[in-house]
Amino acid sequence: METAFTSPGHWYRGNLHMHSTESDGKLGPQEALTWYRERGYDFASLTDHRKTTDVSTFGDEGFLVIPGTELDCVDPERDVGYHIVGVGIKPFSQDDATRQGPGQALVDLITRHDGLAIMAHPYWLGQEPSDIMAVSGAVAVEVYNATCARPGKEFAMVHWDGLLDRGYRIWGVAADDAHNYVGDAGRGWVMVKAPELTEAAIRQALIEGRFYATQGPAIVDMRLVGDRIEVHSSPVQKIRFISNRGRGRTVEAEPGGAITAASFPAPPRGYVRVECIDHRGLRAWSQPLFFD
Ligand SMILES: [Zn+2]
Ligand SMILES: [Zn+2]
Repeated sequence: METAFTSPGHWYRGNLHMHSTESDGKLGPQEALTWYRERGYDFASLTDHRKTTDVSTFGDEGFLVIPGTELDCVDPERDVGYHIVGVGIKPFSQDDATRQGPGQALVDLITRHDGLAIMAHPYWLGQEPSDIMAVSGAVAVEVYNATCARPGKEFAMVHWDGLLDRGYRIWGVAADDAHNYVGDAGRGWVMVKAPELTEAAIRQALIEGRFYATQGPAIVDMRLVGDRIEVHSSPVQKIRFISNRGRGRTVEAEPGGAITAASFPAPPRGYVRVECIDHRGLRAWSQPLFFD
């Protein structure tokens, strides 16, 4: 079972969702990307609303800039909205006709323009797992969106587990969705394992789930050893194995202490994903392992 941790390559830190003054962000494209570059990120995708901002002149050898966008629509039949991020998309702008209609049309537009579709902030949108299951072809869902912390809806673990429990396979990402670059940037990111820092390599790793999402804690290793899933992390308070329905376990440190490893028996079928939660309550999310 290959995972980010068993595949060769390097770890790259990236933000997959951010806005500039080209839509409703507070910083210009160059300043917004520099914000991440100066804080040690390896890559970022600028995802202005309903259009791609030209980022072709912004990247360099040490910092990969990936073009992106965030499309939106309201599906009148489901009575729900969709925001869908397109990472690595070819130059594109969304016309108003597609702002009414099914989320699938947006994923299809992104895919047709070579982008990877990420279902943005489902809790904030009031989506249910069935609204996401109505759409196929998205690579990931935002399990954490920093900007949605304002109304208290930054997490979407219940949505993600609802999908995985029903056999809908989708990866989880954490992203800032930065607009202000004060309080909403540097809060959630992905750590991607790729052979090199190129758009093609990052893209392939995202498709194959060779990454984890985090607000801070590091997942150092996660692999199948015999019939157990073994996880190693930075010092955290809890390591949690989450699986179908009521199956799973939380391993907790002694009060005031920390743990850096835990294990869990691999189930005969279904999925298992891991969360590592530190003493500040910050989380890292592994991708699910699937068992048949
Ligand atoms: Zn949005
Ligand atoms: Zn956004």
